[in-house]
Amino acid sequence: MKKINSILNLKNKDLKNKKVIVRVDFNVPLKKIGDKNLIQDDRRIKNAFLTINYLIKNQAKIILIAHLGRPKGKKNKDCSLRTIFQYFKENTLFPIEFGEDFTNKTTQEKIKNLKSGQIILLENIRFYQEEKKNDKNFAKNLANLADIYVNEAFSASHREHASVVGISQFLPTFAGVSFQKEVETLQSLMKNPKKPLILIVGGAKISDKVGSIKNLTKIADAVLIGGGIANNFIKADGLETHKSYLEDNPVGKDQNKNYIKVAHQIIEKNKTEKILKDGYIPLPKIIYPIDVIAAPGLDSKTSEIIDLSHDMKDTPDDKDLMYLDIGPKTTKLYQELIMQASTIFWNGPMGVFENKLFASGTKEIARTVAKSGAITIIGGGDTISAIDKYNLEERFDYISTAGGAALEFLAGKKLPGVEICLKK
Ligand code: AMP
Repeated sequence: MKKINSILNLKNKDLKNKKVIVRVDFNVPLKKIGDKNLIQDDRRIKNAFLTINYLIKNQAKIILIAHLGRPKGKKNKDCSLRTIFQYFKENTLFPIEFGEDFTNKTTQEKIKNLKSGQIILLENIRFYQEEKKNDKNFAKNLANLADIYVNEAFSASHREHASVVGISQFLPTFAGVSFQKEVETLQSLMKNPKKPLILIVGGAKISDKVGSIKNLTKIADAVLIGGGIANNFIKADGLETHKSYLEDNPVGKDQNKNYIKVAHQIIEKNKTEKILKDGYIPLPKIIYPIDVIAAPGLDSKTSEIIDLSHDMKDTPDDKDLMYLDIGPKTTKLYQELIMQASTIFWNGPMGVFENKLFASGTKEIARTVAKSGAITIIGGGDTISAIDKYNLEERFDYISTAGGAALEFLAGKKLPGVEICLKK
């Protein structure tokens, strides 16, 4: 991997009167109420403000491109970036206009007439089929609108799309301010974290996270596993998981997608490595729950604690149980380890925190991470909603909104949208 200082940024670039096209991430969660789409979390929009302000200060003309939702190459009112345009109008003082279709004259005229410090937001780039195909002509037409290209959408940088990668063939390319911060934060987590480094991984789908778990496990001192992901490890250990959520059905014959087997390999590979709790109690590096909160379903009104370390009963009632949160003993153990950490990376809730009955693991872990003296890096949409819910968001050092792209980056993959922003 390239060095941290090899990212190309806008510092000391002459931007005066230059048209700068910026790929941003405005793919925010929406909730439809009546005929209005309400923005549920504006963090991604705000992430672009640093770059926008920098460009305004340096008297550039700003063209913003983004996608929203999944319009699949067609116009779709529910995915219109007019929602974001409205947000800018109502919540900011940025001088912004809207460009309906960059391929038509009216929008091109608007772009031509932009004055320094003015912004135009273009309609959803995924309304065009060519975007996802990384069509060369389409990328060239986009590039023709501007003098400089800036990637400020780290979260889309694992995609080889025209507005993320293709465009950079035709324009001088730089990283945005938040983009650079994200890359540097994740790079330093992988390369030189302050030790001990503790990973906390939860959420439902192990398939999304297994690459980053494997890669980060190499440098982590301990990996604490919760959520639905933990069920794969519990099962791999030979314990019963009843009806719990698992990913044990490989597509075709690909055994790499049987995640119980994958969990087993991870446990085996790290078996000899131990960490010391309280300086003298040896524990395995990969730790999964020793007890769980279980119930027949996600909406259950009652729950029970199952101790996995001993006296597991197997009554007919248990057969319908799902493990939906880490139990109190596990929570306590994880809390004690977290307090020993100097760096913490957390992605994925410890349980189905949307239901109060299964929220305690996530809440307690969130509070402990927040009060630990460690450098704390949080990622993943659900983890962010959880810390929001418990009003803890100010207490973390870095919150990554980049989702899948961050996980792929942490898995050690080269992201095409990052590669174009590195010094060659
Ligand atoms: P992810 O997007 O993979 O981070 O998953 C987040 C979702 O995982 C949340 O909506 C949680 O409700 C869900 N989740 C957490 N723990 C469990 C569990 N033990 N079983 C099923 N779903 C879970």
